[in-house]
Amino acid sequence: MNLELSEEQEAVRRLAEEFVAREVTPHVVAWDRAENVDRSIVKKLGALGFLGLTVPEEYGGSGGDHLAYCLVTEELGRGDSSVRGIVSVSLGLVAKTIASWGSEEQKRQWLPRLTSGEAIGCFGLTEPGTGSDAGNLATRAVRDGGDYVINGTKMFITNGTWADVVLLFARTNDSPGHRGVSAFLVPADTPGLTRRTIHGKLGLRGQATAELVLEDVRVPAATLLGPEGKGFTVAMSALAKGRMSVAAGCVGIAQAALDAAVRYAGEREQFGKGIAGHQLVQELLSEISVDVEAARLLTWRVADLVDRGQEFATAASQAKLYASEAAVRCANNALQVFGGYGYIDEYPVGKLLRDARVMTLYEGTSQIQKLIIGRALTGVSAF
Ligand code: FAD
Repeated sequence: MNLELSEEQEAVRRLAEEFVAREVTPHVVAWDRAENVDRSIVKKLGALGFLGLTVPEEYGGSGGDHLAYCLVTEELGRGDSSVRGIVSVSLGLVAKTIASWGSEEQKRQWLPRLTSGEAIGCFGLTEPGTGSDAGNLATRAVRDGGDYVINGTKMFITNGTWADVVLLFARTNDSPGHRGVSAFLVPADTPGLTRRTIHGKLGLRGQATAELVLEDVRVPAATLLGPEGKGFTVAMSALAKGRMSVAAGCVGIAQAALDAAVRYAGEREQFGKGIAGHQLVQELLSEISVDVEAARLLTWRVADLVDRGQEFATAASQAKLYASEAAVRCANNALQVFGGYGYIDEYPVGKLLRDARVMTLYEGTSQIQKLIIGRALTGVSAF
């Protein structure tokens, strides 16, 4: 694996860094307090190609490889995880999945709009009663002539109230577990689909997280994404790549924690000298820096495997597990360096900790990642 970035990769990373400095950083505190990122950010992300990375150019994508995608994701996560999440879901979980599983008609219908930022996608898997055990979801899609009629509730859906299309998972037959699950591309304005923003989140406060309620939502059979009954496979393939994206976002949080802590340590004085000169502060900084590098290398390794067409699912779980736990540790250590000032939102590290915390929960909790890795090691499923 080549650890040097190519000129193109470095250029796209720099473009993302400059974009964050100009369009994101000045607004981060206000968006967090208002629980609302300014939606105009989506078109700006699209205009720079950040919503089309790795999607073929014939469908409006901006090409690029998965390492470039990780670099952009890291920079966005370094700026604001709420903004990073918009891209990780609309591009990472929805557009990429349509590119992999969609019919020609579905690709032409959705990809140019999603990659330009004209439309936003959300990923509707989790339900009020079914999180980690996603294959046991209860939402039902019943065939009625040339249509399906869908009933059920989806919970914690990122981009939920903003989305134009829901990649929705529903049960199409009564087989137990995941075997009867199918995937659908449901336009968000379909009658019977209502959405409610979930307020009061610990972190990712700027993000539109929603509950979706489907009451007799009628969609044509042509909205089925992939074969009927293969929806769980569709979901798991999306989440494997999604975990790489979450890991990259976590590297961004960890790097932001390091940057902030080093800067503050260089400014603050106690006991007659800069706190950067106290050994125990250096211990905190050095631990953060090792976590940043380790998380980044694990994440880049996944991107490399994906780009070389090799099996990457276990590596993605390893990267997501490590990077998400590391992001929490790094933000927490950075907060310690800030002392009491870390506890108020005029300084960035408290938000980094709040935003990091969910990374160990979604797209498979840390426990679920360990079960995936343990199954790969032993051949025994312990779910
Ligand atoms: P549960 O599955 O009930 O887990 C509770 C606890 O039990 C956890 O600690 C878990 O690790 C543990 N546990 C469960 N099973 C096992 C086991 N077999 N062995 C050991 N421990 C176990 N979902 C979507 O579909 N789309 C989204 O866009 C989306 N965005 C989200 C955004 C936010 C801000 C949040 C908070 C969640 C989001 N989710 C989304 C949902 C997220 O993926 C789920 O919350 C997550 O999968 C965990 O499910 P749960 O909350 O039901 O917890």
